[in-house]
Amino acid sequence: MLTQAPKGTQDMLPQQSHRWQRIEQSMREICALAGYREIRTPVFEHTELFQRGVGDTTDVVQKEMYTFEDKGNRSITLKPEGTAGAVRAFIEAHLYAEALPCKLFYVSTPCFRYEKPQSGRLRQFHQNGIEVFGAKDASVDAEIIEIAMKLLRANGIDGLKLNINSIGCPACRKAYLEKLREWLRPMLPGLCKTCQERFERNPMRILDCKEDAAKLTGAPAMLDNLCQECADHFEKLQQYLKALGIEYSIDPRIVRGLDYYTKTVFEIITDTPDGGELTVCGGGRYDGLVEELGGPATPGIGFGMGVERMIMVQDMRGIAPEAPAALDVFVVTLGDDARREGFRLVSALRERGVKADLDHAARSMKAQFKYADKTGVKKVVVIAGDELAKGVVKLRDMENSAETEVPMGEIIDTLTK
Ligand code: ATP
Ligand code: MG
Repeated sequence: MLTQAPKGTQDMLPQQSHRWQRIEQSMREICALAGYREIRTPVFEHTELFQRGVGDTTDVVQKEMYTFEDKGNRSITLKPEGTAGAVRAFIEAHLYAEALPCKLFYVSTPCFRYEKPQSGRLRQFHQNGIEVFGAKDASVDAEIIEIAMKLLRANGIDGLKLNINSIGCPACRKAYLEKLREWLRPMLPGLCKTCQERFERNPMRILDCKEDAAKLTGAPAMLDNLCQECADHFEKLQQYLKALGIEYSIDPRIVRGLDYYTKTVFEIITDTPDGGELTVCGGGRYDGLVEELGGPATPGIGFGMGVERMIMVQDMRGIAPEAPAALDVFVVTLGDDARREGFRLVSALRERGVKADLDHAARSMKAQFKYADKTGVKKVVVIAGDELAKGVVKLRDMENSAETEVPMGEIIDTLTK
């Protein structure tokens, strides 16, 4: 128990940290190029924010949230996704009064969902994400999709499938939902319990049901019932995607788990070796959310991309980037005087941007070499009493064991050039 991480959690171990850092760095670079700025919101929020913002008919809110009462009897929830917190911050800090659109991104934000742990499904996972406020044109929908694709490509992942759909707006959805209910009503008794519960409050989610999928073919699709404005918007999105050369498929079954989505929804998926599918990124437009949470009516759009799932895809495809060497130079010393010199040298090297280290465990010279070898370092500097007296050190190339003598005063230049 004591030495086992809780179910559904994972350590990011030092052997893996370079992979996370690369993904995070590419996210920062790609977003900055398009004028996005970073936001970090708290790990926990008032439970009500997610009930209102994510929607209390969703699985996330009904079944998956980590909710508890704090010592002041407030109901607190660990964030299950990134959007609601960003919207809350946007409203609270009056960001809507500044130049719009407000383009935000977040990096490796921790998310918590009480899910059944299985491959690709954790209870604490991390998302890279984007939220844009105050831009209603479909060009921004295409922009964030392009950023998501670029982010994947920058990490060696291409050929994923982009599926898009439009789920309309409150105006056209109302009439559609009535139509859908009429279509579903006669078969309702034969549907699963969850579908029956969703029939009144969120019938579109029924189309998402894995259990009843076969029975639902031929159901009216939102896509065929869009109002003119939503249809035009969806058409424009496709034109922009074509202009960028981004391939996509239209999947009328994407409804997304979250109530506040309007118009564009999309997901980026890949096949898994066991014949299943893995969603790496999900996103969409939420033109009603800012107002729903008490801000001025402001359109919004965003996506969330699972960092662990990106790493999974890299592993599935055998494209894990190699870890860079932890050290450029290791300094082996013999004797107290040499050790002091070595300590100074290491400090000076670090000052010049060379990754350097020396023994901190009072090991014999032989053991120091053995350790250096284990770290995979390419160059070792040997400082020993005899040579030190002559003012020289030895530089050893660990790959071919060649050794040269270098005057102490020149070793830094030799190693930095
Ligand atoms: P799924 O269909 O896999 O349950 P979702 O629709 O619940 O995904 P979103 O709410 O859109 O996912 O979250 C965005 C992204 O976060 C997903 O595309 C995925 O990469 C990642 N993600 C979601 N839930 C988990 C989880 N339990 N463990 C790891 N990553 C997750
Ligand atoms: Mg889910």
